[in-house]
Amino acid sequence: MDNHRGAERDRTRHTRRAFLRAAAALAAGGETLLNARASSAAPEAAPPFFQTRGLVLTPGELEAMDCPALAKRLGINLLDFGHLVVWAAKEELGQKTMAECRRLGIDVEFGYHGPSGLLPRDLFDQDPSMFRMDEQGNRVREHNLCVHSERALEIACEAAARLSAVARPTTGRYHIWIDDGMPMCRCPKCRGLSDSDQALIFEHHLLKRLRRDDPKATVAHLAYHYTMAPPTQIKPEPGIFLEFAPIERDSRKPLADPVHAKLLEQLDANLALFGKEETQVLEYWLDNSRFSGWKRENIRQVPWDRELFLSDLRVYAERGIRHVRTYAFWFDADYIRRYGPPPFDEYAEGLRRWRLVGGKADGGA
Ligand SMILES: [Zn+2]
Repeated sequence: MDNHRGAERDRTRHTRRAFLRAAAALAAGGETLLNARASSAAPEAAPPFFQTRGLVLTPGELEAMDCPALAKRLGINLLDFGHLVVWAAKEELGQKTMAECRRLGIDVEFGYHGPSGLLPRDLFDQDPSMFRMDEQGNRVREHNLCVHSERALEIACEAAARLSAVARPTTGRYHIWIDDGMPMCRCPKCRGLSDSDQALIFEHHLLKRLRRDDPKATVAHLAYHYTMAPPTQIKPEPGIFLEFAPIERDSRKPLADPVHAKLLEQLDANLALFGKEETQVLEYWLDNSRFSGWKRENIRQVPWDRELFLSDLRVYAERGIRHVRTYAFWFDADYIRRYGPPPFDEYAEGLRRWRLVGGKADGGA
């Protein structure tokens, strides 16, 4: 037990030292040093290959660290606050964070699962046809909606538009996904369409509605769980972009490991349909909530693996994907007291060092 605690102290010290060293280097103009590494393969003036370098955060991280200032220092250019749209606009910390991001030129986005909140479930009693049918042929109140119900789509999209007016993404990118890991409709009209096709129908309606208020709006098609396979019958309209969230990956093994062959096949099939240009990766490298099995009592030092992360970046870069963010949850003040700051510095540096050289992504290593 004591040994264990001793080892933990060592790890903590090591992590804190590494962080302080990196922070000091950056404060003293260490950017030059980092850029020098990349510049062996590319002119220093070239912008980073990864255009979006993002973190998805919760108020816990924002209370524990000055995240906008840290992001600015590290070259993180996007903060994503998940479902906290109202928080961002109305709560004190949200308002302060949004103002800081604005001042520092850091983009802000939101990403959340929509239908259960956007189509009020008590409407089931009035009109069950708006809701999804299960495998047994019963309309059910829970989760998602029927994409062949015009009324369901209209109500949900109106609600999404109202919520989006409370706090808008600064990039025009809207991430409003179907319910988390829940099946879509199996009614006679929907049955012939995969969940990916049905999700795309919902996204097309969202796009059309959101563009009435925000002409530059684009909408995510989330490849995740039931929607990991690409749509086959509905074609994405311009303004829909792919968002790849490999939650089922093994985060202890790099994506290049054969265990992920099927996942990469699905990514490639999606890229062939949606194109690589606007594709977003939503990763789990720093998701300590996932590493903890979503149980607070399991929190320990995040098993960050820099080499694995850099190898994964290569997998994405070689496919021409230039927009990357990761969940970075459960690094609150208590976590930092116990384990030191999370390795945001190594995450940011890994993203910043890539350049486009002679039309090819180059990691500069
Ligand atoms: Zn249906």
